[in-house]
Amino acid sequence: MPDIADRLKNVTVSASVAMTQKARDLAAQGVHVVGLSTGEPDFPTPEHATEAAYAAARAGDTRYPPTDGTPALRAAIQRKFKRDNNLDYDISQILTAGGAKQIIFNAILATINPGDEVVIPTPSWISYADIVKFAGGIPVPVACPQENGFKPYPADLEAAITPKTKWLLLNYPSNPTGSVATRAEMQAIADVMLRYPQVWIMTDDIYEHLIYDDVTFYTLAEVEPRLFDRVLTVNGVSKAYSMTGWRLGFCGGPKDLIKAMSNVNTQNSGGVTTLTQAAAVAVLDGPQDLLKERAAIYRQRRDYVLERLTSVDGLSCHKPQGAFYLFVNIAAFIGKTSAGGRPISNDADFVLALIEEQHVVTVQGAAYGMSPYFRLSYATSMEMLQEGCDRIAAFCAGIH
Ligand code: PMP
Repeated sequence: MPDIADRLKNVTVSASVAMTQKARDLAAQGVHVVGLSTGEPDFPTPEHATEAAYAAARAGDTRYPPTDGTPALRAAIQRKFKRDNNLDYDISQILTAGGAKQIIFNAILATINPGDEVVIPTPSWISYADIVKFAGGIPVPVACPQENGFKPYPADLEAAITPKTKWLLLNYPSNPTGSVATRAEMQAIADVMLRYPQVWIMTDDIYEHLIYDDVTFYTLAEVEPRLFDRVLTVNGVSKAYSMTGWRLGFCGGPKDLIKAMSNVNTQNSGGVTTLTQAAAVAVLDGPQDLLKERAAIYRQRRDYVLERLTSVDGLSCHKPQGAFYLFVNIAAFIGKTSAGGRPISNDADFVLALIEEQHVVTVQGAAYGMSPYFRLSYATSMEMLQEGCDRIAAFCAGIH
């Protein structure tokens, strides 16, 4: 076979995608699987989004879109940034793409030269490091320990910055830990970054509206206006509005960066599906009550799963205040053996044995850069969560 490009050699297949496939394979064999690996809301897309897409299709809005996004959508995004984040972006500072993932990809591709470094507080979303490697850059993880709520110590962030650093990537609420940065913590990060004017900062705010308790969401450009010209604020409709399949992400940022990203966009996609853009205008400008209603349901699920799992001997878990994940510590089980006789020497062994013996699908912490943990998504029904917790408890009780 002819060769595949070298640039793909270090890029891995996402472990959560691999685990979700494993769940599908088992289910196809007739096994009753409890899938807790997917980072996807289980609610339907709001009706008014679907209606808007349908109306756009009927009206013949089916030709090539403007690559950066339709004027109507970019204006709706501009209003969203003002309403939710108190950020004033000019229309020329706003860009859309096929998901927040493609926004991040375009930003990295537009800025990274071979050998440039990207500082990533870790554990972190699987794709950041792979996207950086794809572009020829070097991901530089900064450990965010459980005892600090899975957030970075500012001194550790500062120590990771070198003359080669191009970006700092921030993601609150976080995938995989659900951590949320307070205003003071955000300010402490900002104080460090003010000392390094050569570094861009990307804030991936995709879980902005999935936030619990009395916590308030803050994004960096809002907290520290002096960084406004160096921050790329990334968001999208996938998680907030249960629109993962529609593929729309967007960002606000410095004009020159947006222009460079727009160049990438013209070559790698040609813009987001017109019907998706119409649907996105409808949800961004439409009633926002559903965000709070759904967050209340996620919070109930979080409380339930947290209570069940923290009462299992050997599991410990930081209480997350956002997103829909728990990042569960399994240090007590390393070096032991499952009821089915499988040695558990790391978190991947734990997760595989849990699938094989109890048919519960989660993802190992190693995939997010921190072990020994597993990530569980509670974006599923209470029934599934109850069944999942019962089986995880039984699995842990059998470890010896
Ligand atoms: N950022 C984070 C932290 C995510 O978890 C995800 C989805 N798993 C994305 C971005 C991608 O979102 P989108 O569907 O908009 O591409």
